Amino acid sequence: MTARLIDGSGTAATIHEEIKAEVEMLKREHSIAPGLATVLVGENPASQFYVRSKQKRCAEVGIQSLGYDLPESASQEEVDGLVAELNANPDVHGILVQLPLPRHLNEEQVLAAVGLDKDVDGFHPVNIGRLSMKGREPMFVPCTPAGCIELLDRYDIDIEGKEAVVLGRSNIVGLPVAMLLLHRNATITICHSRTKDLPAVCSKADILIAAVGRPEMVKADWVKSGAAVIDVGINRVDDPEAKRGYRLVGDVDFEAVKEVAGYLTPVPGGVGPMTIAMLLRNTLTSAKRAAGLID
Ligand code: NDP
Repeated sequence: MTARLIDGSGTAATIHEEIKAEVEMLKREHSIAPGLATVLVGENPASQFYVRSKQKRCAEVGIQSLGYDLPESASQEEVDGLVAELNANPDVHGILVQLPLPRHLNEEQVLAAVGLDKDVDGFHPVNIGRLSMKGREPMFVPCTPAGCIELLDRYDIDIEGKEAVVLGRSNIVGLPVAMLLLHRNATITICHSRTKDLPAVCSKADILIAAVGRPEMVKADWVKSGAAVIDVGINRVDDPEAKRGYRLVGDVDFEAVKEVAGYLTPVPGGVGPMTIAMLLRNTLTSAKRAAGLID
């Protein structure tokens, strides 16, 4: 069997078009321009790249982006002060604090300072708490986990009643994606570095989400025939033949697993583009809420 490829880039492009149309409608009919503020502290090249990519995508769909770059030496008071200012700014509908922050800053404190109604990354402890409770709705869902679920939905992959295995339990991917699958009535197993016999656990999954950060760890014999496999991992591996000296691979051995799985996301071009699409959608949702168009 050869898996059907889940095209994250194509799906994200479709979502961008949907968002663009709604942004135009908001501007035309309600005179509202959705705005996303990005807060970047320091000069981490990967963080700079991610922030610029998010700003570029904002521009493409008509969302106004307001960039705030602070020096590596910025104090806790300065960062908290900026976040407070952005909370009060009516032109800002979403605040994105790019992680990781420099080590001298208290990340938990900064994330908790972001207004609940502007927490488009979905990392505020109250939003995470609501996501983890039955019958509660967070104001925003974290973007990468939301992107995984969106891909399953757009490819008509049933979640309800299915065995779902999530490899990884981080606050930004593993844990929230497991909560989302639980909300959609899957039966969940969450694996981590102390899980015994990972291949046996994973091979029970109808839906397997890999978010471990270990290149090509998931092998063909870990995967049930016909399973939907969502590969969140982004790992650099040395490749002397590549122009940059490395290539990107996921947490799943793509070539081998595609012969067994029913559906599979590639890396790059799978979950990655969906993360930004979900950020833009959260920002749009926030602007619509601010305008009283939705709850
Ligand atoms: P973390 O390092 O925060 O978490 C990794 C998780 O995997 C932990 O729960 C850890 O277990 C578990 N783990 C690590 N090694 C093993 C192992 N050998 N066996 C079993 N479990 C293991 O990573 P993130 O969740 O932040 O990211 C995961 C991957 O997803 C990375 O490659 C990252 O680059 C990528 N990513 C991609 C995004 C996208 O947009 N596509 C966005 C965010 C991340 P334990 O808890 O026991 O330590």
